[in-house]
Order: sequence, then C-alpha cells, then structure tokens
Amino acid sequence: MTRPRTVVIVGGGISGLATAFSLQEQATKADLTLRCTILESGSDWGGKIVTHRVGEIITEAGPDSFLSQKQAGLDLCTKLGLADQLINTNETGKKACVLYGGRLHDLPEGLLSFIPKQLGAFLHSGLLSWTGLARMGLEFAVPPGSPRDDESLASFLRRRFGVQAFERVLEPLMAGIYAGDAEQMSLRATFPRFFELEQQHGSIVRGMMAAKKSAVPMSTGRPRRTMFVSLKHGLGDLVTALTNRLAQQGAELRVGARVEAIRVRSHELGRWMYDLILHDGSALSAEGVVLATPAYVSAELLRPLTPIAGGLLDMIPYASTATVAMAFPRTMTSAIDGFGFIVPRTEQRDVIAATWTSLKWPHRAPADQLLARCYIGGVGREDILQLDDETLVAKVREELAAVCGIKGEPRYTEVNRWWKAMPQYTLGHLDRLTQLDAAVSRYPGLVLTGAGYRGVGIPDCIRDGAAAAERVMQDVWGGTNLARRHTVGTS
Ligand SMILES: Cc1cc2nc3c(=O)[nH]c(=O)nc-3n(C[C@H](O)[C@H](O)[C@H](O)COP(=O)(O)OP(=O)(O)OC[C@H]3O[C@@H](n4cnc5c(N)ncnc54)[C@H](O)[C@@H]3O)c2cc1C
Repeated sequence: MTRPRTVVIVGGGISGLATAFSLQEQATKADLTLRCTILESGSDWGGKIVTHRVGEIITEAGPDSFLSQKQAGLDLCTKLGLADQLINTNETGKKACVLYGGRLHDLPEGLLSFIPKQLGAFLHSGLLSWTGLARMGLEFAVPPGSPRDDESLASFLRRRFGVQAFERVLEPLMAGIYAGDAEQMSLRATFPRFFELEQQHGSIVRGMMAAKKSAVPMSTGRPRRTMFVSLKHGLGDLVTALTNRLAQQGAELRVGARVEAIRVRSHELGRWMYDLILHDGSALSAEGVVLATPAYVSAELLRPLTPIAGGLLDMIPYASTATVAMAFPRTMTSAIDGFGFIVPRTEQRDVIAATWTSLKWPHRAPADQLLARCYIGGVGREDILQLDDETLVAKVREELAAVCGIKGEPRYTEVNRWWKAMPQYTLGHLDRLTQLDAAVSRYPGLVLTGAGYRGVGIPDCIRDGAAAAERVMQDVWGGTNLARRHTVGTS
C-alpha cells in the first residue's frame, strides 16, 4: 500500500461525479489508497441533471436524454448497473418538424447522415425551393476550406449546403443544441467530425457515405439503441446511482459546501499542496484538485494563482435558457404526433424548440395527457427570461396555439430557468484551451473538467471526467510509479 493521497473534486454535476467515479476505479485497479472528497455548493447532486416526479408525471428540468453513439454514457450506466433502465425513444412515432414560414414541415428522417436519398424527402417536405435543394445537392462539389481556419459553424454550413438549407434546417438543428449563435460558434470545437470529414473526403456527403460503407455491423448480442437514450424513471437515477456508488466506495460527499478560494503551498520537491477555503471559512487540504465547476466559477478560483488562466476562462461565454413543461389533456391535443419541432432563428419566435415528451417516452405522463417541453432563451434571445413565470408561460402557450393549435389550460406547468448554463465554444475556443492547459500545467495536481471545454453533452462530460481523473492520478502519484503499479496490477 502507498501513502494515502487526497483528491478533492469541486462541483457535483455529472462531470465532477464521473471524475470521482473514474478516480476510484483507477485507484482500485492500481492498488493505490485514495481519499476522495466531492464538494457541491448546491443542496443537491447532479448540477444540470434534475428530474422531477409529480404523481405520474416525470419531467426533466435540464437534459432529458443523451447520445448513444458516444459510448461513455452507455458504459457508465452499465458499470452502475443501470443497463436495464436504459430506454430508447418511441420508434413508432419517430418524426420531427421544423417551423418555416409559420408552418410546421416534416424533417426528413436521418437528416444528419446527409445521404443523397434524403433529398427526395426534402422535396416532399416543401421546406426548400428547387434552387435551395439543388444547391444542397451540390455539396460534394464544394472545395474544402483551409485546415488552418477556425471557421464559424454558420459560414461552414452555408458554404457547403447553401443559405436555404442552413437557415431553414441546419441552423436550428445544430446551433440549437448549444442554444448558440452559429455565426459565433467554432465549427472545430462544436462539430469536429464535420471538419474532419471535409478535410479527409473533401465533402461531408462523401465522408458520411464512406463511413456508412466501412461501418462494422453491430454485434448481435448488444441491444439496439436509438440515437438518443434515457433512463426509464429519468436521468436523476444516473446521479443517484453515482452518488450511492461513490459513498459505498468511501468517498466523502458534501453538499452545501461552496469553495471560495484555493491557496497553494509547496509540499515535496516539485509537488504542491492545495488548501481549499470553503464559504464557512473552513479549509481542506489536498494533493490533487479537480475543478468541475462552470468556467466562470473556475476563473474566480484560479485567478489569484494564474491570472492568465482566469482571463482565458472568462472568455468562455455562457447562454441562459429556460424549459417550460406543460401537460395538456390528450383530447385537446389528439392531432399532435412526432417528437416535436425546432424553430430557425429567422422565424423570430420565443420558443426555440419543443419536445412532445410523452410521445418520445410514453410512460412519462398518464396516457390521457400530452407532456410537452418548450425551450426558450439562448444567445441573443435571453431578454424573455426576465419575465415572471406567469407571463412566460402565457407567451409559450400563445406560440403553441399559433404553431400547432394547442389551446386550453394545461393540467400541470413547470418553469425551470437556467442562468449562464450553456457554454459557448466561440471562434478561437480550441486555441484558448491549449493556452489554458499551458497556464494550469504550472500547478501539477490541479485539473479542469466540465461542459465548458471539450463537449457539452452528458457523454462528453463523462469522457472528459475520466481523462481528468487520469491526469490527476499521474500528477499526484507520479507517472512512472503509476505506470509500474498498473503493469503489476494487470500482470
Ligand atoms: C436545459 C438544458 C438541456 C440540456 N439537454 C441536454 C440533453 O438532452 N443531453 C445532453 O447530453 N446534454 C444536455 N444538456 C447539457 C448537459 O446537461 C450539461 O452540459 C452537463 O450536465 C453539465 O455538467 P457539468 O457537471 O459539467 O456542469 P454542472 O451540471 O453545471 O455542474 C457544476 C456543479 O458545480 C457546482 N458549483 C459551482 N460553483 C461551485 C463552487 N464554488 N463550489 C462547489 N460547487 C460549485 C454547481 O452547483 C453544479 O452542481 C442540457 C443542458 C441544459 C441547461
């Protein structure tokens, strides 16, 4: 057994919890004694992951699902014994719409695979004119951009697919994920795969087709997953399973513990000891610290140690959003089908997207009700969030009535506001991350993770948390030592 080492993780969202899980996993494998403490300033675990259960209604205040193509989310659920709780979206009602010209149009299925046969479906949807369609179909002939440019998402999509396809479909689909403004978003930081496909194949369509051809068929033993998956009783179960497992394995979990400052003192040669000062004036010492807090919180904590890192972190803007969940009697909404709709910026609406939650996941509301969830806010559209709940709900209902004819009183309503919640990877984001890594690397054992850096989705946060755990292990126990112990452990 080695001398025990202490690692403190600041922030109990999915990034912090996944980091702690991975730390414990790696320490156990290498037979290292780890004291792990997780500090969360709020009163609950999970950060943006918040599930509400009211009678038979299950709502998600923040994320409602995660991408199954990114393996980290599925893997973590499996390790936590939640594999049998994973649910696909309802295959029978699979359809989404886009609002254009004040009317809903069907979105061609599998749109983001950009396979040319989708062009026919576009034609039927009436979304694009002949010229818009022809321009989109010419994507394979558009020369690639310079590999050195950090191009905006808007410029890239317009250049490759034309203005119509961008404004009417791709902007709400892709920028909407970030509640962002495509003109400011860095393509390479938000959709690196499109950048790679263009560079490798000269065209997204060609690249997608090549990838499809060479795809390894899924092994028959594994359950088939839809593009997005969730947990039967809500994503809050992932948080509960994580905190239970961490506590069982000896981690100390403290809510209501806000870290207000970090001090550094020299410890052993080339090693630092970190003192974390909490809101009540108490302090905690650790050889390793993982900041899994939003970038603007980490900026304040790091500024006294490295003003450069503080300044770089300040340059990661966050957008504010809100979700409004409403349950309507099904008799009032019988014509509604599909999964919901997205709204292009050019439509100038307050609602930026709506999900028919109980059609996507049928057991989330009683069968005689339609549970809807509307998204508002985002970059450039945040003023509406200043309205009180009543006015906000009235505005959302007005738009639902105008767009899809939902009238009448909802039986249940819930408003969740998310201030400074969605990090924006604006132009230059990746360069700033490189500089940030260089500035923070002066402090071995101090590591940053979270949605602010290398992916906002839940699987991205889990993957980045595991990478952060590995880095802090290397710093705290020493690379060679750790590598040797890993080898011994696995031989
Ligand atoms: C409305 C909405 C919908 C979304 N939908 C999806 C979706 O469907 N699928 C998907 O994959 N992703 C979705 N996302 C994105 C995803 O939910 C987030 O990116 C992710 O949950 C962020 O996790 P995190 O741990 O990095 O940050 P957070 O969840 O923000 O956690 C950070 C934690 O740090 C704590 N903290 C802050 N300051 C301190 C301090 N000084 N001391 C101690 N603790 C502190 C905070 O209280 C918080 O709990 C959505 C996000 C939002 C807002």
